[in-house]
Amino acid sequence: MSAQRLLVVLGTRPEAIKLFPVIRSLREQPALETVVCVTGQHRALLDQVLDLADIRPDIDLDLMTPGQSLDALAGRLLNGIGAVLDAERPDRVIVQGDTASAKCAALSAYYRRIPVVHVEAGLRSGDLHHPWPEEGNRRIIATLADLHFAPTENAAAALRSEGIHASRIHMTGNSGIDALLHVRDLLRSKARRAPAIEDLAERFAGRRIVAVTCHRRENLGALASIADALRMLAARTDVAIVMPLHPNPEVGAVFRTALEDLPNVALTDPLDYPDFVALLDACYVVLTDSGGVQEEAPALGKPVLVMRETTERPEGIAAGTARLVGTEAGCIADELARLLDAPAAYAAMARAHSPYGDGRASGRIAAVLRQESR
Ligand code: UDP
Repeated sequence: MSAQRLLVVLGTRPEAIKLFPVIRSLREQPALETVVCVTGQHRALLDQVLDLADIRPDIDLDLMTPGQSLDALAGRLLNGIGAVLDAERPDRVIVQGDTASAKCAALSAYYRRIPVVHVEAGLRSGDLHHPWPEEGNRRIIATLADLHFAPTENAAAALRSEGIHASRIHMTGNSGIDALLHVRDLLRSKARRAPAIEDLAERFAGRRIVAVTCHRRENLGALASIADALRMLAARTDVAIVMPLHPNPEVGAVFRTALEDLPNVALTDPLDYPDFVALLDACYVVLTDSGGVQEEAPALGKPVLVMRETTERPEGIAAGTARLVGTEAGCIADELARLLDAPAAYAAMARAHSPYGDGRASGRIAAVLRQESR
């Protein structure tokens, strides 16, 4: 019997982080032929991660153009991916998460009656506008997909409650934790270095590092308020802030203007994934609006304050290692102060646990796909 042909489509940094362990596991299966197509939705950030994982895309659509609208992006993705599907004729298309690339690949595959496999399926905030447009994207993918790899029992239950048959849902854990633990172990064994973070840790020795990321579309109106909270935090002499700035110029401009002149604040370019993992490992507290970072911080035992009103990752909140703090400056500053000044509050949040996975999701995903190909 000939090998099943799988086409993996990805476009952004978080997809590359969560799919590189899956692609590696799939490539260990002789019964599966795995073709990788990148859309280039986040060009530079995507390439960094694929280089780290030594994955050379088989097809590179390079579709990103600066400032394009969501409609223009979707149109280009559908046309580009559709042509790839016609040429490659895969048996299945694999997408991850909730990006425009994932949604459009699922739709193109559906139009051709090619079964869609969804990795990290079933995350729901319950609010179509938070996170936007990701909540809509992942619901659309769930409707079209044939196989759903859910990271947690919550996610699997959400899919079942939407009428998806239990036999098509597999609870695997989140492959992002596979990536995280792999890179953390490389760093700890010194097989990989993170010089940028080693330098910052030395520069800020004796201070507790608060790692900050902020980029969500729905938070763009709240950037000034978040910057105010960070200025209040930076007034403390026992703290340093390290904040990799997302490439979105709107985000960078606000934080540079507000924080650039402060001696205990380091605003950096987006960090390579290993540097970012080293930052998470070195910091005291994480303040973020990212999805993936909410999963990574608890696995490394770091309290995470989430600058959102809702989250599709309730497991960390339920366990008490993550807290929703919204985007109001006073609230963020109060929650940070509580963690910095109340050792008991800190200890309660700083328990290492991994509700999102045990680092072996990719092997499980590959095993199911091998089974399905028989
Ligand atoms: N990340 C990174 N470098 C950075 C900031 C984040 O490699 O400077 C990684 C982080 O470890 C996480 C992912 O990027 O795995 C999160 O991406 P992002 O916040 O862009 O997206 P989201 O998770 O919200 O979809």
